Amino acid sequence: MKKDILSMTLQELTEAVLALELPKYRSAQIYHWLHKVGVTDFSEMTDLSLSLRERLNDSFVIFSCNIEKKIISEYDNTVKYLFSLHDGELIESVVMKYKYGYTVCVSSQVGCRMGCRFCASTLSGVVRNLEPAEILSQVYAAERDLNVRVSHIVLMGMGEPLDNFDNVMRFLQLISDENGKNISMRHISLSTCGVVPRINALAQKDLQLTLSVSLHAPNNEIRSAMMPVNKKWPLEELIPACKAYTAKTSRRISFEYALVSGQNDSIACAKELAALLRGMLCHINLIPVNEVKETGCKESSPETVKKFGDYLSGKGFAVTVRRRLGSDINAACGQLRRTVEADRKETT
Ligand code: SAH
Repeated sequence: MKKDILSMTLQELTEAVLALELPKYRSAQIYHWLHKVGVTDFSEMTDLSLSLRERLNDSFVIFSCNIEKKIISEYDNTVKYLFSLHDGELIESVVMKYKYGYTVCVSSQVGCRMGCRFCASTLSGVVRNLEPAEILSQVYAAERDLNVRVSHIVLMGMGEPLDNFDNVMRFLQLISDENGKNISMRHISLSTCGVVPRINALAQKDLQLTLSVSLHAPNNEIRSAMMPVNKKWPLEELIPACKAYTAKTSRRISFEYALVSGQNDSIACAKELAALLRGMLCHINLIPVNEVKETGCKESSPETVKKFGDYLSGKGFAVTVRRRLGSDINAACGQLRRTVEADRKETT
């Protein structure tokens, strides 16, 4: 079995290089090719001898993302990729251009097992976790394809990042490494549906990233109906965990709230939400739900979204309504993969 070289830290790579009886300085060279340049094949490491490249190729594999589909939004240049992995599994990533630079939204798992009722990624359950290399290579593949430098990362694609905790932690370490892409933790957001023990574990790491919590409801009744994870870790556990997270890291939490018509978008819900989050160092991000055929969720009208937001702002909360980037290209995670998986089934 060849070893996954892209998931190795520089120190681990150095140990592996020494084990092959190569000079130590080779590891920095190889690491540079892998993480600064983003090569996908040892043959591209042109300052290594041919025989060394062949030796590396015998011992290691460089996981990469192959572009299966690339869709560019007509409205705002948001780019959505459907990538295939070495075993043929499909994942999605989205690149968004903001005033401050390029952001990549990466997937952390193939599928998802959290079961949120409005989400396309979870409809067929989880297939497997992504390796750190496979999360990294989404960024590297996008940079390479678009010939741009990515400055921000959001872990908001397919999958539940805290359900793949160790690999995601290693991804964070590698992507923020000064010998690699050197993306500051302050430019990284991690979104969770609320896996409480892992929020606690993340707090202990005391990272400077932004934690986004997909709240989507102001009480257990509505939240459990929308998000099965709430039955395991209800609001009485989630909210204190968020408070403890902020106390430990001094970082403001971002609460995501997808507005679904008739479900969680009334002013009574806004009131309850204000009471739930009162006094917390937080930010509320409202998202008109992206309609996914299979879920039957309908998006709230712009007027309802505005009223909901205005109520919360009036109570002193920092509120934004998420810009609807790429709404013409199925940018809601999981939708593109489903379409292509369905086509694959039809043609086999
Ligand atoms: N599993 C993580 C991250 C992936 S989803 C989480 O749950 O946070 C990223 C965000 O998109 C989450 O806030 C999720 O609730 C939201 N989301 C999923 N499907 C959506 C849809 N159809 N419309 C709007 N937001 C959606």
